[in-house]
Amino acid sequence: DSGQSRRMPTAGPLPVSFEGDVLVPDSPAYDTARAVWNGAVDRRPKYVVRCAGTDDVRTAVRVARELGLPLGVRGGGHSAAGWAVPDGGLMIDLSRMREVVVDPRAKTAQVQGGALLGSLDAATQPFGLATTAGIVSHTGIGGLALGGGVGWLGRQVGLTCDNALGYEVVTADGELVYASADENPDLFWGLRGGGGNFGVVTRFDLRLHDVGTQALVAEVDLDPARGLDALRTWLAASDDAPRRATFIAEVRSGGPLTLGFVWVGPPEEAAPLIQQLDGVGDVQQRRVATISYLDLQQQSDVGAAYGYRRYAKSHYVQELPDAALEAFLAHTDADAGPYASLVAYGGAIAEVNPDATAFVHRGTRFEYDVGAKWADPNDDERLATACRRLAATIAPWSVGVYVNALGVEGAAGVHRAYGDATYARLQQLKATWDRENTFRLNQNIPPAES
Ligand code: FAD
Repeated sequence: DSGQSRRMPTAGPLPVSFEGDVLVPDSPAYDTARAVWNGAVDRRPKYVVRCAGTDDVRTAVRVARELGLPLGVRGGGHSAAGWAVPDGGLMIDLSRMREVVVDPRAKTAQVQGGALLGSLDAATQPFGLATTAGIVSHTGIGGLALGGGVGWLGRQVGLTCDNALGYEVVTADGELVYASADENPDLFWGLRGGGGNFGVVTRFDLRLHDVGTQALVAEVDLDPARGLDALRTWLAASDDAPRRATFIAEVRSGGPLTLGFVWVGPPEEAAPLIQQLDGVGDVQQRRVATISYLDLQQQSDVGAAYGYRRYAKSHYVQELPDAALEAFLAHTDADAGPYASLVAYGGAIAEVNPDATAFVHRGTRFEYDVGAKWADPNDDERLATACRRLAATIAPWSVGVYVNALGVEGAAGVHRAYGDATYARLQQLKATWDRENTFRLNQNIPPAES
């Protein structure tokens, strides 16, 4: 199309039936297509294959295997490790597969594998419907839902993967299969948390819920040096909070302690919780905003913009004794840069049996994240080290990690994300569906040895 791209050379052929387009290093759009959210990722695929549909994905998987090229799959490009982009390999780019079709009567959505969260919310909200999606609208449904999918609706309706009715998947052999509770239930289990290890998902069928279109965000700032009681009280209150509320605590170096909650539902019903928040301690500043759910889902978009260099580290935590809370508050003394948060889980997330899906951390009370963003490559080491150092102060209370918040931590990290039993079960599943580990640019589950 318009000289921007060209067919793969016949030596590494895509058949004439291929409807998408292919970029090579001298294509004008190549550099844009290989850039991902983390600006520090700079990899050069041999081919960027922009598939137009499921048949194209089948072809691309087969061609990558025939050519022996490392295969990457790009959904929204948000993985901080840049898993989507294979150096010298073939990148299946799903950016032309972003359609979302909503059935408001059945309360379902058919979501193509390359869709961004913003398209999902935009398609469902005119009907007052939604399902759990992440908090930044330019994240891809692909990577997000395959790892679990956490968002402001999680406590009401569960993770994104808890709302998956089925998945259309292109397997490592280039075959097309469907996975649901009735068809290929083993694969269905693994796709709900096991990441991109088992195939390319070309369509997610999701359940939607009547959540309305309104939301509210309430926050108070406190002095971190005197914030211990307030932090302790607020986090403890989270356990009994209404499911419409997700409690948060945030700190940043040189900044205040911020406590608050995000509410999805009629704002007036949040009044008692706002009162509780106001009384939590010696409040310096207070912000309460009633906003639409769509605006809520985009409010972090700018802060999470493309192109910056990034580092992040995360832990799941259950018990947070005072020593842990003090370690969290001490983040405000750190080197300029890192910010950290505790975000509540519980509610519908906790009601799912840990064996029912590959996402196992059902008992998690909070997700702890520390991160930094910067522009100057000279700051890479300093800020990554600062994040690692802060995360290490919380590590004694870690019970695991969200696979989508995991950096490049090798097999030990992947073990942390799944625990031994689920990891072993995932390895068996991998041996069934991807014996040669074709899909390995991800938080990789190596196939079980037979
Ligand atoms: P990609 O980099 O395109 O893909 C990530 C991995 O998934 C790769 O291994 C890729 O091969 C695989 N993959 C992607 N699409 C498919 C597909 N269709 N089929 C098979 N494999 C696929 N997570 C949350 O749960 N909740 C949040 O609120 C949240 N907020 C975030 C905000 C920001 C700014 C960022 C950067 C990340 C956030 N995340 C969140 C984490 C996010 O879920 C992961 O980064 C996820 O991997 C992003 O998916 P992607 O498709 O955009 O990324």
